Amino acid sequence: MAKFYDIYHQIPSARQRRSSLNEQMSDFESNNLSCRGCIGNCCTFTSNSMMISPIEALDIIEYFIETDSFDLEHLVKKLQSTINEFRLYTNAGLRKTYTCPFYTGEKKGCTISKHSKPFGCLAFLPNEKNIIEGKTCSSKINSLKDRHEKFKIDEQLVNEAIKNELGLNWNKLSIPAAVLDLIKKGEHLLSHDS
Ligand code: SF4
Ligand code: SF4
Repeated sequence: MAKFYDIYHQIPSARQRRSSLNEQMSDFESNNLSCRGCIGNCCTFTSNSMMISPIEALDIIEYFIETDSFDLEHLVKKLQSTINEFRLYTNAGLRKTYTCPFYTGEKKGCTISKHSKPFGCLAFLPNEKNIIEGKTCSSKINSLKDRHEKFKIDEQLVNEAIKNELGLNWNKLSIPAAVLDLIKKGEHLLSHDS
């Protein structure tokens, strides 16, 4: 097993590290500030420029590995296709807009569990009721900061271990570039036993 997995499995789980953000989302929904009726344009090139850390990419990979229908070849093709379409590798380290490969184009269109998706996605919430196409939504920065403070030591340990072990030269990349880089460089990622 890769060494970073030892640390990864010792720190709070992906679900625990997202619980405060998911509680916030539930509170918003209770007040009719919900994403449920929205087409999800925040996941498209019109407004999405999400960048994630190595541990967030690992959380996503772990989510897919545990999914019955997981198809590695299909996932790699999808990631590569998005990277090519939006030229994301050539802009490594720079924020660029792109349509997320995990967006289905429908309402509630994210295919990643709320317990595994990027922190920034969970904290991006509506400011108006009954939205069908978000225009005034925003990132709840204080919630992100509070979450980060709580888990930063644990997550830094994992991020550094992944970077050192896989030889990554980045701290954050677009979602598809980050996930694909971990898959390509992490020969242990998908077997857990080498
Ligand atoms: S991970 Fe999900 S919520 Fe985040 S940008 Fe992609 S489709 Fe949207
Ligand atoms: S309401 Fe806003 S945050 Fe929610 S899915 Fe729509 S655009 Fe995204």
